[in-house]
Amino acid sequence: GSGINGLQPLESTIPDTERFKDAANLKLNCPNCSATFDFGGIVASNYYSMSYNGLQCKKCEHLFAPLQINSQLERSIRSHISLYYAGWLQCDDPTCGNVTRQISVFGKRCLNDGCTGVMRYRYSDKKLYNQLLYFDSLFNCEKNKNCELKPLYHTGDRDFPQEKLNESSIKALTEQNRNLFESNRSVVQKYLSDCARRYVDMGSIFDFMQQR
Ligand SMILES: [Zn+2]
Ligand SMILES: [Zn+2]
Repeated sequence: GSGINGLQPLESTIPDTERFKDAANLKLNCPNCSATFDFGGIVASNYYSMSYNGLQCKKCEHLFAPLQINSQLERSIRSHISLYYAGWLQCDDPTCGNVTRQISVFGKRCLNDGCTGVMRYRYSDKKLYNQLLYFDSLFNCEKNKNCELKPLYHTGDRDFPQEKLNESSIKALTEQNRNLFESNRSVVQKYLSDCARRYVDMGSIFDFMQQR
């Protein structure tokens, strides 16, 4: 489909659980004890907690300075963007699996002898856009307050949190951390607006390739 039409399903009312099913988690590293954990917003976790004074590592009780979250978030965004820019194409025929950075003069056709597969971007513009929307959601105060975030864990997971957070403390903690969340959100927004523009541009490149 075209870029603009392809954008619409993302903006519809698909719940985040479904929409961000394939998005990578945001990994944070404690600058004090080096523990690495997935950050999923103001949710229960065995590894971190949101306190009234910010994000706290459960292992060593270190309180993250706002910049320590900001810079790790930005680093993670940049690593996703560079994966995208690497521009690897992969053949969609699972028995072939040809991976290349070359776009053949024959458009999207796989160049392996006798293969009828189609080359597709391994890390697509849509995937990157969705990934950034996921990071954005983590710091969205409304979504946090309404408990609409994609859960990090499922019942039966080894890391499934022992304690639960109740709704009223989530609401209070969100308000208390509003400035912190908004500053992180602005980091994501900086890249998101760029990406949305490129997403639409990429759509027209695909249309061009499909026209032959
Ligand atoms: Zn720590
Ligand atoms: Zn192939």
